Amino acid sequence: MFVRKYVIMGVQGSGKGTQAGLLAADLDLVHIAVGDIFRWNVQNHTKLGAQVRRTMAAGLLVSDDLVEGVVRDRLAQHDWNYGFIIDGFPRNQRQAEFFLESYDIDGVIQLDLPDGEVHRRVLARRLCSGCGMDYNLIANSPHQPGRCDACGGTLVRREDDTEEALAVRLREYHEKTNPVLDIFRRKEYVVSVDARPAPEQIQQEIRKRLDLPPYSQS
Ligand code: AMP
Repeated sequence: MFVRKYVIMGVQGSGKGTQAGLLAADLDLVHIAVGDIFRWNVQNHTKLGAQVRRTMAAGLLVSDDLVEGVVRDRLAQHDWNYGFIIDGFPRNQRQAEFFLESYDIDGVIQLDLPDGEVHRRVLARRLCSGCGMDYNLIANSPHQPGRCDACGGTLVRREDDTEEALAVRLREYHEKTNPVLDIFRRKEYVVSVDARPAPEQIQQEIRKRLDLPPYSQS
């Protein structure tokens, strides 16, 4: 059986979740979003949630030990018969080394977005407080303002989608996550894709660059 293992990287608001979701649904991959796992823990008041809440709200990176534990436990579930796409990890050099020691990777997708566009997108982002569905008030607004199309839940802003936390997150990205891309580039894993076109167009480009069957909206 063919198992595919991908990493998706990109600055905040570059559409990692959307693109990973499209790829995962079509190829039967498990979509692992480390930020979503942390947010679930915060929302459900777990011990892990209490440990990461403040760090996340400030836009800083959570400690490597906690992150690696989450990734290790998630992948140890082995529910990924056809493979996985991991989003939001690795975010610094130590995490990249940990990952490369334990798993081989088939490709790294890098979504490329200028910082100016990041601000516009992130400040317009809303999440459903019920089911976690992602909206954007510019490009993908709900039918009824403030309500989730899927479950009717209230749409909220992520606690770290503020100007202040975003500035910290961007700094963390450029300082700590960009060097990870260099590590992956040296191994010739990386395909860089322009994150500005429509989501379907970006997905098509990702498929082409990874030699995967084309994306069809059905
Ligand atoms: P995201 O949803 O990917 O933007 O992640 C939200 C927040 O979760 C980040 O700003 C960090 O505080 C934390 N986080 C997610 N993934 C990682 C990671 N790989 N390393 C450290 N912190 C992370």
